[in-house]
Amino acid sequence: MTELALKPADYKTDVHPDWCPGCGDFGIINGIQQALAGLALPPWETYLFSGVGCSGKTPHYIKVYGAHTLHGRVLPFAMGAKLSNPKLTVIAAGGDGDGYGIGVGHFVHAGRRNIDLTYVVFNNEVYGLTKGQASPTLSQGSQPKSLASPNPNGAINPIAMALSAGYTFIARTYAFDAKHLKATLQAAIQHRGMALVDVLQPCPTYNDLHTKAYFAETVEHQGSSFPRVYDLQAEGYDAVVKNSEDADEVLAKREQAFVKAITPEERVAIGVYYQIQQPTFEDRLKATIPLLNRYTPLELPYYDSNRLPDTDLTSGLDEFRV
Ligand code: SF4
Ligand code: MG
Repeated sequence: MTELALKPADYKTDVHPDWCPGCGDFGIINGIQQALAGLALPPWETYLFSGVGCSGKTPHYIKVYGAHTLHGRVLPFAMGAKLSNPKLTVIAAGGDGDGYGIGVGHFVHAGRRNIDLTYVVFNNEVYGLTKGQASPTLSQGSQPKSLASPNPNGAINPIAMALSAGYTFIARTYAFDAKHLKATLQAAIQHRGMALVDVLQPCPTYNDLHTKAYFAETVEHQGSSFPRVYDLQAEGYDAVVKNSEDADEVLAKREQAFVKAITPEERVAIGVYYQIQQPTFEDRLKATIPLLNRYTPLELPYYDSNRLPDTDLTSGLDEFRV
């Protein structure tokens, strides 16, 4: 098959993004377009679904198949597409309020299924579309300009939550680090299994705490000045389980990721926290439904050896006759 020569611009629709100036969402859609082009993914075999929120508009701007779905329900749509046709590349996109709030049940169960898809979470610590209420990732006591008083709720930790739910690729990146964002998205898409990419994203309209300037600062670390945002892998952090049958190695890598995720620090770590290769949900289904080794669910034959339908639906239609 001829290698496709696709550029990021080939994944742009004609719809002009109407996000606020300076929004991190611009960086993220650029990263998605760069990653899709870098992997030369055919647009007609790539699906992008979104939930509800500012990030819900993402499929409007990226020229692949997809849909803007329901609040907190992006993963069921993405999982359904992937399971019905596992040949597709499927990406789910949504906000932190959408995925870690109303959608958190789906978030957890997607992890334990380990379906081969990528979930990109636009994490800005607020519900931007509805005027900046605290999202589940805003830390207790924080008060961005959109809140009348400090946030009384504790924050959830997406990395630790994904780890306990069973995600097999867990990473964090930053909306305005184009190179790291592209590389992380590509690694997540290429990973075979359920991947979480939590993208830290400024919302200049409502979150004046974690702004572009905040992420660009230098901070004191071990007596020297360092950029606030640093790359785990550049500092030698090895996230990848080499032998998934080795229980000691798996435990050590899980423990390392959990400790890294929950340890407070002035700096902001980006990179891959944990990665393991394990049988996907699709693999497990094939073991119990042998036909799936020959056909995708969409291709399953619905006729017998005489080319006649193998299921008679006529009796079921009787009640609808008028
Ligand atoms: Fe972006 Fe915030 Fe504006 Fe939404 S409200 S478009 S997240 S800057
Ligand atoms: Mg948000």
